[in-house]
Amino acid sequence: MTSRQPQSEQQSITVIGAGLAGCEAAWQLAERGVFVRLYEMRPHQMTPAHKTGGFAELVCSNSLRAASVENAVGLVKEEMRCLDSLIMRAADATKVPAGAALAVDRTLFSQTIEQVLSQHPKIEIMREEVTQIPEGTVIVAAGPLVSDALSQEIVYLTGQTHLFFHDAIAPVVSSDSIDFSKAFFASRYDKGEPSEREGDYINCPMDREQYLDFYRAIVDAERYPLKNFETPKTFEGCMPIETMAERGVDTMRYGPLKPVGLTCPDGTEPYAVVQLRQDDAAATMYNLVGFQTRLRQGEQERVFRLIPGLEHAEFLRFGQMHRNTYLDSPKLLNSNLSLKTAPRIFFAGQITGVEGYVESAACGLAAAIYAAAQLQQKSIASFPQNTALGSLIRYITTPNAKFQPMNITFGIMPPLQERIKNKKEKNAQLARRALEGLKEWLNGSAVE
Ligand SMILES: Cc1cc2nc3c(=O)[nH]c(=O)nc-3n(C[C@H](O)[C@H](O)[C@H](O)COP(=O)(O)OP(=O)(O)OC[C@H]3O[C@@H](n4cnc5c(N)ncnc54)[C@H](O)[C@@H]3O)c2cc1C
Repeated sequence: MTSRQPQSEQQSITVIGAGLAGCEAAWQLAERGVFVRLYEMRPHQMTPAHKTGGFAELVCSNSLRAASVENAVGLVKEEMRCLDSLIMRAADATKVPAGAALAVDRTLFSQTIEQVLSQHPKIEIMREEVTQIPEGTVIVAAGPLVSDALSQEIVYLTGQTHLFFHDAIAPVVSSDSIDFSKAFFASRYDKGEPSEREGDYINCPMDREQYLDFYRAIVDAERYPLKNFETPKTFEGCMPIETMAERGVDTMRYGPLKPVGLTCPDGTEPYAVVQLRQDDAAATMYNLVGFQTRLRQGEQERVFRLIPGLEHAEFLRFGQMHRNTYLDSPKLLNSNLSLKTAPRIFFAGQITGVEGYVESAACGLAAAIYAAAQLQQKSIASFPQNTALGSLIRYITTPNAKFQPMNITFGIMPPLQERIKNKKEKNAQLARRALEGLKEWLNGSAVE
């Protein structure tokens, strides 16, 4: 801990949490001439998942996922590099061989970041828990495992119903990866909105043999263990699909896979049906209804691709269940990530409903740029919508009744004007458009 004092209280911002988002935010602020007080409660007070007192600790995998810009998370990383991200500098400097992914030596990664921030003349590090939001401009980047006291303070600020504590997320697949020679649109008992598609749901019908194969695969599949802060009862209200399967061979058929009210286009009655519900306005993404799960990601791909029609499904988001504190950001936050009811308070990282290390850091970067602009009374253009970063921030701050945490995917970016069938080429063009847009934004965004 250093004992530097802010040169000008007017030009200082408090950042709560030295995780992925908080470290990136502190760096961006300091590089913009803002004095930063960065609070981190570890190691004095640990979270249930962190194991060290180090900054930007990667709590689970050491992978920052795909490296290529033809993958949306690779694009976010490239955009962050263009914005001089500390997290990306550290990741590139400490990377380890990982094929098409960018993985890091987690200890060196954390040490590199902590060293840069502790030596920065504009950053003061405070190793203590924040229990009340301080005066002045603040960025709350306390993560999905925010301490209880601060979480109470946030509830006080936002209202109980606007802070969620658990993720029970079903996987999302891209609609253009679904095989419609097997899947079909229909609503149970034809009760959907009248539309050309003859129903609101995509239905994947199974015969008895297919159902039993699927049942056996799901019961045997490998899953993530319960964390010490979770009990099987935690998720009783939204049971994982594999737990439901374990209760009996037909339990899923009386639950989310019930076939009643659905007939296949050839007139046959299915034995079981998996339904997919539209997840975005553009209908590019569909979630598997009732498929919240704690199966390992590779197992989700293997087992869920047994579902007829999903053999080649592209998973845009995997299902998951873990404790995750996050805000109802679309209701609470302005488009610059500040709180509508108290615009001096910004939120960043996973607590805003972005999901993943890279997305959390990217959100910290954006919050810092917006907070610095507010403090320095500069008007600044929003990140372009065509960038992955702009789309991610837009996703979490745009009204959405079914808001759920989200990884970046090309599915939340505005589509290209022309239709390109080849997915690799389409993604390459989306990436090119994003990086050009970001360059233009960098050249002309900040208006004094
Ligand atoms: C168990 C678990 C496993 C995950 N695994 C992965 C994975 O493998 N890959 C992936 O991409 N994403 C994963 N995530 C999701 C997410 O990317 C990480 O949680 C990521 O660390 C979020 O970044 P953050 O900066 O928002 O929060 P964090 O990195 O958690 O940082 C928040 C910081 O705030 C501190 N803090 C909390 N409360 C206070 C307080 N009151 N005062 C001071 N400091 C405080 C914490 O100690 C912490 O250092 C996982 C999440 C969890 C919960």
